[in-house]
Amino acid sequence: MIDQFTPLIEINAAQLHYRVGGAMSALRGNPPVVKAVDGVSIVIRRGESVGLLGESGCGKTSMGRLLLKLEDVTGGDILFDGQSLSTLKGADLKRYRSRAQFIFQNPFDAVNPRFTIRQTLSEPLENAGIPPSQRQDKIIAALELVRLSEPLQYLDRYPHQLSGGQLQRVVMARALILQPEFVVADEPVSMLDVSVRAGVLNVFRDVRDRLGLTAIYISHDLALVRYVCERTIVMYLGKVMEDGPTEDIVHEPLHPYAKALVAAVPVPHPDQSHDPLPIGRGAPDPRNPPSGCVFRDRCPYAFDRCAVEIPQLQQAGTRKVACHLFDEAN
Ligand code: SF4
Repeated sequence: MIDQFTPLIEINAAQLHYRVGGAMSALRGNPPVVKAVDGVSIVIRRGESVGLLGESGCGKTSMGRLLLKLEDVTGGDILFDGQSLSTLKGADLKRYRSRAQFIFQNPFDAVNPRFTIRQTLSEPLENAGIPPSQRQDKIIAALELVRLSEPLQYLDRYPHQLSGGQLQRVVMARALILQPEFVVADEPVSMLDVSVRAGVLNVFRDVRDRLGLTAIYISHDLALVRYVCERTIVMYLGKVMEDGPTEDIVHEPLHPYAKALVAAVPVPHPDQSHDPLPIGRGAPDPRNPPSGCVFRDRCPYAFDRCAVEIPQLQQAGTRKVACHLFDEAN
């Protein structure tokens, strides 16, 4: 029986490694390797909303691209509804493209500026073989779903004639028009004016709940992830550091990196203390990560073992944590 506890996505030791450094490094025979995603294993249940959280370069966008098969894993495997994404081709891949959709960060980059909104929303319908006679009704329904009232007024406008918030709703409508089961939203409000972010986030939450979508929400902003997702996965240099209920991570982060992210959230009250951990800014060069724990050169709790042994993700109460401090505790 399929219910909300059935896994929709099973990620098994997924890797996305690629060589960098250009032709000279290749000629020298030892080009550096960037491990954008490195041995990630996660199960995502049907209907779950999961935030992928971390700084730029932590691997969260690469993970999103693997999940939508915009990139292929270089190791491990990803199963969607029991089927390996690596094996999808032809009609199966086309069907997957309608079941799983991406909501891009910058709405102005996500659409063709020469297409009207009608053309923008017709494109996925055409690709899916929906006859022209049925397209307008579906376009109107999708625009209403994302709360663009009086949708007919938008159909013949061009992207530059819409505000950023309106265009991001159009981008959402295009992602939803084929009624997907799964969406990946990559920082969907980060390019928008602060004044319209809440409205777009509310639409995202509302649509997700009404359609029962499984959603991945990628962000560097813990406050946004908290607003949208019941579960959070903290990533650093391609690896999962902590995975658990969002409220538990917000109130009592376990991994030192998760602690730093929580401490970095501004405190709105002047009398409340704000004591960020001294981890400094910026992750190390991904071509040359530290040995052992990849977080160790920024970790205020690092000890000898951290330099020689990679911590494995293990259960710690409601969470899974990759840190030797929790090996010691067990
Ligand atoms: Fe810090 Fe060591 Fe834990 Fe890594 S394993 S987070 S370096 S204490």
